[in-house]
Amino acid sequence: MAKDERFDIIVIGAGPNGMTTAAYLAKCGLSVCVLEERIECGGACETVEPLPGVRMYPHAMLMYASPAPGFEQLELHKYGFRMEWSPSMGAMEGTAGLACTDGWRPITPKDQMGWAKIGGLLGQPPFTREVMRATFWCPPHPSAIEVTDDNVPYMQVYKQHQPDMYTHELREMTMFDLMDELCETEHFKAAMAYAAWASGAAGHWEGVAIPAALCAQLLTLPNTGQGSIPRGGLHGYFHAIHRAAVHKGALVRTCCPVDEILIEDGRAVGVRLRETAAMGGRTIRATKAVIAACDVHQLFLKMIGRRHLDPALIQKVKDISLKNQTLYVSVFHTREQIRLKPRFEDPARYVGDSRQPMLGIYPCDSREIYYENVRDVDGRKGQPTVPPERAMWFHCPPQNFDPTDCQASYPRGYISQAFEMAVTSPDYHTEGEDAPDRYKREMDAYMRAAYGQMVDGLDEANLLHHWSATGRDIEFRNTGLIGGTWAGSRHDEDQLWTNRPIPELARYRTPIEGLYHAHQTSGHPGALCLMAIPYNLMHILIEDGIAEPGAWWYASPWYIPQPGKISARRD
Ligand SMILES: Cc1cc2nc3c(=O)[nH]c(=O)nc-3n(C[C@H](O)[C@H](O)[C@H](O)COP(=O)(O)OP(=O)(O)OC[C@H]3O[C@@H](n4cnc5c(N)ncnc54)[C@H](O)[C@@H]3O)c2cc1C
Repeated sequence: MAKDERFDIIVIGAGPNGMTTAAYLAKCGLSVCVLEERIECGGACETVEPLPGVRMYPHAMLMYASPAPGFEQLELHKYGFRMEWSPSMGAMEGTAGLACTDGWRPITPKDQMGWAKIGGLLGQPPFTREVMRATFWCPPHPSAIEVTDDNVPYMQVYKQHQPDMYTHELREMTMFDLMDELCETEHFKAAMAYAAWASGAAGHWEGVAIPAALCAQLLTLPNTGQGSIPRGGLHGYFHAIHRAAVHKGALVRTCCPVDEILIEDGRAVGVRLRETAAMGGRTIRATKAVIAACDVHQLFLKMIGRRHLDPALIQKVKDISLKNQTLYVSVFHTREQIRLKPRFEDPARYVGDSRQPMLGIYPCDSREIYYENVRDVDGRKGQPTVPPERAMWFHCPPQNFDPTDCQASYPRGYISQAFEMAVTSPDYHTEGEDAPDRYKREMDAYMRAAYGQMVDGLDEANLLHHWSATGRDIEFRNTGLIGGTWAGSRHDEDQLWTNRPIPELARYRTPIEGLYHAHQTSGHPGALCLMAIPYNLMHILIEDGIAEPGAWWYASPWYIPQPGKISARRD
């Protein structure tokens, strides 16, 4: 019988968190094997081609990662990473405004200055990168350390650079409270709260004003104010990480679902692949660590035998809510380019090579509209009851397409950028998880009615095709996403490390020695492709003597080492 293969590290799941962790560890000189269930890597960072030459991004589109240390530490520029830059953005100057039911309403200087202050742009010098890194790219403090105003990383940054922001109340506020103090217009506050809700911590959650506001700010590049979009979309970004991992020696295997984590004497020593895997039923050994970059429920409730876990921990994991919304994604193929309705008409809004209108978020009139939408999705959890005229949605920025992108150059008709709306995730739909499929026709019509509040051209005469992805479709595309959801991109209140809901999991360790978790559903700061979990996890792997990085490594300045362990600091 063939001997089991052995690696220093096994990573389960080749989504952005798993692959980035693999790249970091391979760069430390460790032998790494990444096992992916699907036929391709990338998790929710994928591009699809429904017609030859028509490329679409069904999920991740904007990159919430610009301040990540991973760009430098993994040298992603050497592996093909490039940001998208479109000179056509110049055409947008002077058009700052938010779409409301009566037309564009201006963003005032007070709105801009308040928002800039939160994001560190008014410091001397600006401290945007520091405050964002402090909020997301720092591992939670050891559980014995009490979390106080003085040791929360972003509080330390404000204290140093913008002392009037440093108040105890800041840690208790909602993002609305903070914007009520610093910004002016209701439409600006409603739009930013919506951007936060769709991105991470929501605008109305207490105690997370800064993570919520900064998550929304991560969508723009601080130095240009433009949308943060990598060339080739998020899949292009993922390719750079994948190349970095493989170049440093990581072995990546697709069609290899893991069924079980092998545990001997309380220690993770490897994995067993599913019988149907390409290498069916094989066991692969890990001499140093197993890192689970797949969802937290699957990890604790299926892959680890119950006999290895305390029943109290199992219950706590079951209690982790994965109930966030999902996104209903729509892309349109039209004969003529979609046009702004007369009350929004503005030639400067047509941007990029395809001259597609730039729409943003709609309708931003007031926080009442925001709350109506939140109530429907997070509260009622069924089909939308908000009339389409008041349904909030966003349009991904079209100006970033370069001339080689199909949306800019498709020869027959016009391909729109994605329109997206938050909806109930299938697992939590009151009418059952197949409801999104049963209602798909009605939902498509509802979506067109909602988008049609701002644009003309979605009528039968002009519409060639409406590609839409319900939460169910998204789940089908990516089995790693919980309930097919953007809760896939879970970034919940209980996940933010200042709350530490499950202290024994807070620092990516598990009660099983040698087993770590690195998925968006389990670790701070959750969601999105921030390269934050892998960077934060690195501190812990260094503490445990598993990773020994070279001179390229630097720890978070706000990180507190665990007593009795190896410090991840190099100074
Ligand atoms: C509709 C939508 C829009 C989004 N938009 C954005 C955006 O604009 N910007 C952004 O930054 N992020 C966005 N996201 C979120 C982003 O895609 C996720 O946060 C990111 O993919 C999380 O990475 P991950 O590695 O933690 O998990 P995943 O991407 O879920 O990867 C987990 C991987 O593990 C694999 N796996 C699962 N179980 C097993 C097993 N048993 N054995 C082996 N492999 C397994 C899965 O197949 C998957 O490849 C969006 C997500 C959705 C759903």
